[in-house]
Amino acid sequence: MAVSPDSETPHQVLIVGAGLGGLTAARKLAARGIEVLLIDRNNYHQFQPLIYQVATAQLGMRDVARPLRAIFRKERAVTVKTGEVASIDPVARTVTTSDGVTYRGRILVIAAGAEVNFFNVPGAQDNSFPLYSVDDAARLRSRFLGALDAADRDRRYVERGALNVVIVGGGATGVETAGAVAESMREVVPTYLPDDLARAGRVYLVDMLPDVLMPFNEKSRAYAAEKLREYGVELRLGQSVTEVRKDGVVLQDGSFIPSRTVVWAGGLKARGVLSGTGLPQGKGGRIDVNPDLTVPGFEGVYVLGDSANIVDAKGTKLPQLGSVAQQSGAWAAQNIVADLGGGQRTPFVYRDKGIMAMIGRGAAIAELGSRHRHIAGPVAFLAWLAVHMVLLSGLWEKLHALWNWAWDYGTRRRPQIIVDRPDAYAIDWSDERTPHGGASP
Ligand SMILES: Cc1cc2nc3c(=O)[nH]c(=O)nc-3n(C[C@H](O)[C@H](O)[C@H](O)COP(=O)(O)OP(=O)(O)OC[C@H]3O[C@@H](n4cnc5c(N)ncnc54)[C@H](O)[C@@H]3O)c2cc1C
Repeated sequence: MAVSPDSETPHQVLIVGAGLGGLTAARKLAARGIEVLLIDRNNYHQFQPLIYQVATAQLGMRDVARPLRAIFRKERAVTVKTGEVASIDPVARTVTTSDGVTYRGRILVIAAGAEVNFFNVPGAQDNSFPLYSVDDAARLRSRFLGALDAADRDRRYVERGALNVVIVGGGATGVETAGAVAESMREVVPTYLPDDLARAGRVYLVDMLPDVLMPFNEKSRAYAAEKLREYGVELRLGQSVTEVRKDGVVLQDGSFIPSRTVVWAGGLKARGVLSGTGLPQGKGGRIDVNPDLTVPGFEGVYVLGDSANIVDAKGTKLPQLGSVAQQSGAWAAQNIVADLGGGQRTPFVYRDKGIMAMIGRGAAIAELGSRHRHIAGPVAFLAWLAVHMVLLSGLWEKLHALWNWAWDYGTRRRPQIIVDRPDAYAIDWSDERTPHGGASP
């Protein structure tokens, strides 16, 4: 196992994770001339809120993923390393990669985000497609295309679920994905399959809760549910998924939906790498932090964004949102500047600008400002577009995404319907006959 000379020479600040939190912290620190080592398992930053659009081929991978070295090419204070962090020692403030290289920081910032939680549902991990990274999105897109192609080859695959997409989880990710898949069924699949087959496509959204989008207010929830139904999404609410099989999904009431494309948007949990660190793990396995984003009892360690349970200066427990990650990244940077300069850290104050979700063309919901003022429909849709334009990293990415949206709206054609994951594309139809299964064509 290699031991890096890096472990001998501590970096001023060592940041694990170049998501919205880590990236923002690195940028702010670099702007103050503070030396940063930023390590991520990917050589790119990915913008999670638009990942479902990569899965449905509205956007390409490069629209939502930007190379880290390109982001920091003019920033000499930031060194980027690509590597999987396998262990973290918060006392020594070191991290060690899976190939045994150790890095040390005078200050350690953990911004590793969260990972998918299958809640121990049998078969979910093996038979469903999570949607939390661009890699997940590429796999899901290839699987969807694999199912369409199978139905096109032999129509008997339709009754075995080739044209059914089941989305598990009625939060923002599940709702946005359901809306986008339904739109694809309506507008793109007819350009791919013969008419009668295209009309056979079904989209299901399943959640154990009685309503979709629980963090939103009642008006927003009602609008979203109505629009989804209008788009042909079948809502199965108040129903938990008890098993995900390779041929479909079993629900709590014993019903079965045959499908080869099951999207898992059921929730998140803390990254596995955080356990065993000795850091205090609270709700969801996330690290409980002080209001100034440091960890109690661990000098020089900060935890941000989805990796942390943050209660801000006003005593508000903050949700796992991009805006919380970004603002906590900026705030941590400010506190680190104070640490290094002998100043005083201050407790994080979150500025709630609201929440929003896209349902489909011209249909979105937004709750604006700290009072969460409800708007819906085309105005919310335009607000959604504007906000995502601002948040996307990089001018090229913004312009390219805008071009792709305009092209999609104008032509209903999606150039990114390319199979690039043959493993996900290939569907094993060789199920044994079971009470729920169908006959092999
Ligand atoms: C599909 C989806 C849609 C969303 N939509 C919205 C939305 O519309 N609005 C909103 O406000 N929020 C949304 N969110 C939430 C938002 O994206 C997150 O809250 C935010 O990205 C959290 O930022 P973060 O920096 O904490 O973590 P992340 O952005 O997840 O970044 C963590 C980084 O750490 C890296 N990493 C993790 N483990 C390791 C390791 N062991 N070694 C090396 N690197 C590692 C990862 O590669 C990643 O780059 C969405 C999230 C998802 C998944």
